[in-house]
Amino acid sequence: MFTRRQTRVIHLGNVAIGGNHPVSVQSMTNTDTRDISATIDQIQKLHDAGCQIVRVAVPDKEAADALGPIVKAVELPIIADIHFNYRLAIEAINQGVDGLRLNPGNIGGALRVRQVMERASAAGTPIRIGVNAGSLQKEHLKQYGGVTAQAMVDSAIEHIRLLEQERFHDIKISLKASNIPLMVEAYQLLSKQVDYPFHIGVTEAGLPGRGAVKSAVGIGVLLSQGLGDTVRVSLTGDPVEEVKVALDILQALGLAKHGAELISCPTCGRCQLDLLAVAREVEERIKNIKKPITVAVMGCAVNGPGEARQADVGIAGGKDGGLIFRHGKVVKRVRQEDLVSQLVKEIDKIISEEDNN
Ligand code: SF4
Repeated sequence: MFTRRQTRVIHLGNVAIGGNHPVSVQSMTNTDTRDISATIDQIQKLHDAGCQIVRVAVPDKEAADALGPIVKAVELPIIADIHFNYRLAIEAINQGVDGLRLNPGNIGGALRVRQVMERASAAGTPIRIGVNAGSLQKEHLKQYGGVTAQAMVDSAIEHIRLLEQERFHDIKISLKASNIPLMVEAYQLLSKQVDYPFHIGVTEAGLPGRGAVKSAVGIGVLLSQGLGDTVRVSLTGDPVEEVKVALDILQALGLAKHGAELISCPTCGRCQLDLLAVAREVEERIKNIKKPITVAVMGCAVNGPGEARQADVGIAGGKDGGLIFRHGKVVKRVRQEDLVSQLVKEIDKIISEEDNN
C-alpha cells in the first residue's frame, strides 16, 4: 500500500532489514545483562510475543562477557548496545552478537573506530548509528542554535562518514526524539541523503497508554511515508508491551499480520449487548490465536454485520439473543449467553477450514 523507500539490505542474524523485507519489530531488555538467566528469560518472553530482534545494554566488561552465553541460549538476533567504549564493542563482537548499536564519533578517535570496524567487517556484524535529540554534540547544537532536525542529520552524517571511511556500509540509522514533528523531519531529510535502512521509534514515549499513542503517531507517520525498516516502541515498563504495541501499529497499517485482531463498535443507543464485557471476553479468548483473523463484536443486528463486513467473523447483539456472521452475512442466530462460545466455535471452524485448504 505504501511505497517504501528503497534501502540497502543488512542482516541481523536471520532477519533481513531494508529493501523490500518486511518491517521488523525489535525491543530492548531491561534486565541487568550480567544476570544471564533473567536476561535469557526476558528475551524468551519477547520472542513469544512476536519480537524479532533484541537489544541488550552492555555497560561494562562483565555484561560483555555475559553476551556469549545469552547469544547461545536464544534464537533471536542480539544487538549489543555500547556507549563510548570501543573495547566493549570488540568484546561484544567476539562474544558473537549479531549487531552493535554504537556511535563511532563517541569511541575515542579514528584508530579506535578502525579497530572496531576491522573486527565488525571480519565478523559481518552490522552497526546501528543511533542519533538521539537529547544527546547531540555541542558543536551541532551551537551551529543550529539548539536541537533541530538538520542538527540531528548532520550528526548522523558525521558518524556515517567515519564508518564509510573504513569502507564499512553494513549500517542502519536511527534519529530518535520524543518530539514527533522534529523526528519526522529528521528522517525525511536524511532519507534524501543516504540509502541505509532506518530503525524508527519515538524515544522516551512514556508509560503504556499515552506512550503507545505517541509511538503509533510517530511511527505511523513515518511508515505511511515509506520510511522505516525496523521498529522499536519505547515504553516505560515491561518490554513485552513494546512488542505488542509495535505489532499493533504494523497490523493497523497493513504491514504485518500477527494473530487475531478484534474490532468492536463504539456502541450507541441501538446497542443490545453489554458490549464492553463481551468484547473483553472475546479479546481474552482470541489472544493466543496465531492465524491472522479479524473478529468483530458489534452492538446491534441492524448495522453491526454490515459495518463489520471486512471482518472474517463476528457477533452482533439482537433482540433475545444475537447473530453470528461471516463477512457481513448472518450464519446463525444464538442465545445471548451462547454468543461468545458460538463465536469461538466459528473461529475454530475457519481456522480448520484454512488449514485444510
Ligand atoms: Fe450502534 Fe449498532 Fe453501530 Fe454498534 S453496530 S455503533 S450498536 S449502530
